[in-house]
Amino acid sequence: MSLLRPSKIVCVGRNYAAHAAELGNPMPERPMLFLKPPSALLESGRPIVLPAASSRVEFEGEIGVVIGRRFRGGSVTEAVDAIGGFTCVNDVTARDLQKTDGQWGRAKGFDTFCPAGPVVADGLDWRALELRTRVNGEERQRASSAGMHFSIPELLAFIGGVMTLEPGDLIATGTPAGVGPLAPGDVVEVEINGVGILSNPVMSRAES
Ligand code: ZN
Repeated sequence: MSLLRPSKIVCVGRNYAAHAAELGNPMPERPMLFLKPPSALLESGRPIVLPAASSRVEFEGEIGVVIGRRFRGGSVTEAVDAIGGFTCVNDVTARDLQKTDGQWGRAKGFDTFCPAGPVVADGLDWRALELRTRVNGEERQRASSAGMHFSIPELLAFIGGVMTLEPGDLIATGTPAGVGPLAPGDVVEVEINGVGILSNPVMSRAES
């Protein structure tokens, strides 16, 4: 049983300037959206499985927003009211396939490529969420929601202008600088103050 039962997972690309720069990308004029399938969800503690089709799978620690009430269109102020809680997300990405495919559905969509959890926490200030990612205990990413290019309410208002957001839908708000590859035997942790630690081991296809 997954903690989360979203009808969709909406992800945001390039929402931190330093991350766009590390991949050689310009900052977008408006939020760049893509989708991950709910079948990719993975609870804390369960293994990320590296697919044979990719030779470079990377972690992307992100702040996840869980929608609390149906929301479409609307203002930035109304978007704040649609926030149900926050969780840690790892937007696991097959970086090589992302580059060669053009479309990101495969690179972002493998089973186990969306660890999320360990809980959905409410009552947190969307302006002051501190995100950290560690691999084998070593810190690799550190950022604050205050450093986002588009704020969380701005993102929700933009997404709600495109598609109806349903209660339980998950929004992954983009990864900061510091992404890197995962290897079998690694343990990757994403932590947000007030939410806790999302921890997942990594294994190869052959071990699963
Ligand atoms: Zn991402």
